[in-house]
Amino acid sequence: MKDPVNIISLSGGKDSTALWLLAYQRLEPHIAVFADTGNEHQQTYEYIDYLEREIGPIRRIKADFSVQIARKREWVQTKWREEGISETIIEQALSVLYPTGNPFLDMCVWKGRFPSTKARFCTVELKVRPFFDQVYLPLLEEGKRIVSWQGIRAAESLARSKMPEREETPEGYEIYRPLINWTVEDVFAMHAKHNIEPNPLYKLGMGRVGCMPCINAGKMELFEIARRFPEEVERIAQWEEIVKLASKRNGASFFASSDGEQIWDKVEWSKTVHGGKQLDLFKALAFEDVPVCSSQYGLCE
Ligand code: SF4
Repeated sequence: MKDPVNIISLSGGKDSTALWLLAYQRLEPHIAVFADTGNEHQQTYEYIDYLEREIGPIRRIKADFSVQIARKREWVQTKWREEGISETIIEQALSVLYPTGNPFLDMCVWKGRFPSTKARFCTVELKVRPFFDQVYLPLLEEGKRIVSWQGIRAAESLARSKMPEREETPEGYEIYRPLINWTVEDVFAMHAKHNIEPNPLYKLGMGRVGCMPCINAGKMELFEIARRFPEEVERIAQWEEIVKLASKRNGASFFASSDGEQIWDKVEWSKTVHGGKQLDLFKALAFEDVPVCSSQYGLCE
């Protein structure tokens, strides 16, 4: 059987870093790939650079939506007019239907909306498809056998606990999940063994590293992000204004909302208790008094 090309899918989080270290430790030839969503924290970009200096080269890929946005421009100019959409809305949409080079923003401008827990197209558009089109497909066309290493652990969720360690995909490559039975302690022990620091965001209270914020962020996570990284919330607030212009209904909220609540409204809600009816005084005070180090994983000394 042909030697496989091992592809390590890196996110800048603890699990994928441990995954990469495992491949490195086993002396398995591999390619490490980071799919940039355009919605990562600056410290994650810096961490990816750090890993590259300490461990080895990282291939960076990102989705490009310029073709979809060009098609959407045509669609807006023809179909929206045929549907009787107002000229104001059409002109608004055309004013922002240009690629910016930021994959997350461009995806939302193309779709005229943000992803949501019910329509979670972001993972496919920003990670799965760029990996397949830019990394796997060219190798498959060369006749290579691919093993896609993924840093998934059973303990993370019920869905993940049912995933097998190895699996063949219909697209013709194999998925390998060597961390499936690892604990979070095993993951950080792997970092320590190779003298690699975990992503600094874990010491700043983040439970997970990925989009900042993720559309699935819970109340507490949003609270923590907003008090530590208000600039990230402000960036999303600006994106809401842009995506709103690309939307036929002239509205767009980063977190799904039936009454058009914007991200700063959700931040205010994150400070409340009793179903959002009452301000939580403890949280309100904590919002102003941010501890320097607070890790959910006991990483702070
Ligand atoms: S981290 Fe969240 S927002 Fe980012 S691609 Fe995944 S599901 Fe979407």
